Amino acid sequence: MLRIAVVGGGTAGAASALFLARAGHDVTLFERVPQPDAVGAGILLQPTGMHVLAALGLLDPILEHGARSDRLFGTTASGRIVLDVRYRHHDPESFGLGLHRGALFSVLWRALQTAGIQVRTGMEIRRIEQRGGKTLLFALNLQSHETDSAVGEFDCTVIADGTRSQLRAALPIPQKVTAYPWGALWALLPDDGSLQGGLRQWFRHAQQMLGLMPTGFAYQQMNSPVLSLFWSLRADRLQQWQDQGLEAWKKTVLELAPITSVLQHIQRPEQLTFARYADVQMRHWHDGRVVCIGDCAHATSPQLGQGANLALVDAMTLAQCLAEEPKVEQALALYSTRRRTHLRYYQGASKLLTPFFQSDSRIASTLRDIALGPLCRMPIARQQMAMTLSGGKTGWLFGSLRQPNIASFQRPILETE
Ligand SMILES: Cc1cc2nc3c(=O)[nH]c(=O)nc-3n(C[C@H](O)[C@H](O)[C@H](O)COP(=O)(O)OP(=O)(O)OC[C@H]3O[C@@H](n4cnc5c(N)ncnc54)[C@H](O)[C@@H]3O)c2cc1C
Repeated sequence: MLRIAVVGGGTAGAASALFLARAGHDVTLFERVPQPDAVGAGILLQPTGMHVLAALGLLDPILEHGARSDRLFGTTASGRIVLDVRYRHHDPESFGLGLHRGALFSVLWRALQTAGIQVRTGMEIRRIEQRGGKTLLFALNLQSHETDSAVGEFDCTVIADGTRSQLRAALPIPQKVTAYPWGALWALLPDDGSLQGGLRQWFRHAQQMLGLMPTGFAYQQMNSPVLSLFWSLRADRLQQWQDQGLEAWKKTVLELAPITSVLQHIQRPEQLTFARYADVQMRHWHDGRVVCIGDCAHATSPQLGQGANLALVDAMTLAQCLAEEPKVEQALALYSTRRRTHLRYYQGASKLLTPFFQSDSRIASTLRDIALGPLCRMPIARQQMAMTLSGGKTGWLFGSLRQPNIASFQRPILETE
């Protein structure tokens, strides 16, 4: 049994803590937020992510809260089909799930409470030292305001503290973080059920993109289904968006998509939250007894809807490597090797696709409008696109993710109720 620290209680950290506790390790999870809450908009859960949640025994409550998504469908303002990717073109049984990020958070955190994991909230880990075969953690306690206090000595530390991780930045691993000039405004709105089938997008060039995604239910609020709205915006145009006023923006949206009934639920600009993205690249993800997972290790733009899924696969793979390899340093090196092809493919594909959907380039959007629709109708291309969306590709031409057998993770330590 190892003493393991997990830094960050998002999807990656919470799932990782659950897998490691289930494997019999003594796990402490540190979360900066004093009272973590179910925040965020809709995320798209892919078959790969659902497989991991099934291994944790948590898929049923997730399915209850989600909205099944069978395809990703996008058109230009004039109605030309730009994207039509259907999960069934990869596997007739497969589908995605529009999910409230807060529902995923709540299901994972409820499981943490009954899994014998020490959860220490209000603790911002500021520094990690490695010496004498141990990792030592130092924190700012956000409740007592005590700075740089030693919070424990661990055999291994998992850094899962998100895109803007300072702990990752301090590691001696070659890394590059590039902020995207573009982001998105998002809002959660009541869903009247008129949008069927999954994520719907509308595009004008690559400058305007509207997305609507049935998102299921906020945690245990099963009477009021919600819909996520996303509006692409370049970060340096946010002020201009605020200055132009809500009515002018609604007029622009309606020129792109006939969604009057959805827009009537937006009455104040504060209902829309702006989110920015960054691209995180690391040469590998381990350093001695420390490993980075989730957005902290490989954040991308959200074009392919993979953030939470990659984080979940990371968590499961890490537990598997620690189970297979008794020496911590070697287990973490094995983790980096195992995750390489899958992560590199999705990082590369997100980077390649982003300018076609979020940029000022007319060449990119014209190419997209001409080529992508017909490609979606070609059997081989559409199968590859569906496989990419499903989250299981590990290479441009060949290669698919081999996820471990769920049964190997189902030891009865974890209770979900
Ligand atoms: C508030 C919030 C809202 C989001 N909303 C959406 C959304 O609407 N749609 C979407 O697709 N994705 C959203 N995401 C991103 C999505 O959750 C992630 O891409 C995905 O789940 C992978 O998560 P992660 O665990 O790697 O990182 P994150 O979800 O970013 O979690 C990182 C966690 O680490 C904690 N933390 C950070 N620094 C420290 C530290 N030094 N010490 C201790 N704890 C620390 C943070 O408080 C956070 O809880 C959101 C993320 C956050 C944090």
